[in-house]
Amino acid sequence: MGCFDENSEIMEHFFHPRNVGKIDNPDAIGHVGNPKCGDIMDLYLKIKDNIIIDAKFQTYGCAAAIASTSVLTELIKGKSIYEALKISNKKIREVLGEMPPHKYHCTVLAEQALKAAIEDYKNLASPEP
Ligand SMILES: [Zn+2]
Repeated sequence: MGCFDENSEIMEHFFHPRNVGKIDNPDAIGHVGNPKCGDIMDLYLKIKDNIIIDAKFQTYGCAAAIASTSVLTELIKGKSIYEALKISNKKIREVLGEMPPHKYHCTVLAEQALKAAIEDYKNLASPEP
């Protein structure tokens, strides 16, 4: 925890993470892990007509990973899956503010969780006409 400023956006999201939990009967699940830092993310999406109407997550890992997934769920809610796919780890870092470069991979992991979830959704949904 020591490497983050107490008043930073990272700490704010770490202590008050948004959208924590699990969605019953989700339309998509993204499960990713990062052996380097021991972070594990489960992202649950509720999708209707290609719009992400709800997003929840369970992340076990470092403060940056929890903050990243928290920010991610706020960014993607209400967006179409195509818009959501444009959200990069860089965007998450813009919201979170400065963080040590060795923590960048935690924001990358959040992006991967989203991509995995949308991939999962596409596999289940009927193909685009
Ligand atoms: Zn991490």
